[in-house]
Amino acid sequence: GRRGLAYARQKAPAAPAQAVGRRWRCGAGRRRGTFRRRVSAAAARAPVIACVALGANLGDAAAVVASAIDALNRLPDTRLEARSHLYRSAPVDAQGPDFINAVAAVSTRLTAPDLLLALQQLEQRAGRERPYRNAPRTLDLDLLLYGDARIDSPSLTVPHPRMMERAFVLIPLAEIAPDLVPAAALAAVAGQRIERLS
Ligand code: AMP
Repeated sequence: GRRGLAYARQKAPAAPAQAVGRRWRCGAGRRRGTFRRRVSAAAARAPVIACVALGANLGDAAAVVASAIDALNRLPDTRLEARSHLYRSAPVDAQGPDFINAVAAVSTRLTAPDLLLALQQLEQRAGRERPYRNAPRTLDLDLLLYGDARIDSPSLTVPHPRMMERAFVLIPLAEIAPDLVPAAALAAVAGQRIERLS
């Protein structure tokens, strides 16, 4: 589709030098060495396409998801490649009003753990509060895929273990990366209520 990965790749590339410069100015005093090492390590890595699922069901959820997608494009060493439409879905394993969902693909030189940390910081910044497990949340960001990596650490499992069970992940993901979503997986979630917003 028009919003797909191939289309997005034709966009003018972001200026990586500027992103590095921003980090440099941030790195003051004794932290500078850390920034220098991180920046040069990131520059040495090939970019990876990572897919991120976004969901929100509190407040102005559509605005929260839209601004989180914009925030992905501003992460260090990261560029937004494609975004799905916004969708509305019934809560699964969660309470509260309907969710607004989307999936975004980024090209990033961050490692998978660093990308997860960045996503968690965006969640925090959106004022996420988790008084109890599966409580309604302002913004939830899941790392679905990190290239073709398979990761199984205590804090990170990729591909995301539940992505294939969820229409609100598979349908927006199929919009931007149809090759990654088998027809059988879509058929398996066909009973879940989800509608695309214009
Ligand atoms: P949740 O509260 O459902 O957003 O889950 C957040 C927890 O899941 C965090 O402790 C993460 O470390 C962990 N986690 C494991 N794998 C992933 C992943 N692929 N994407 C996001 N969080 C993950």
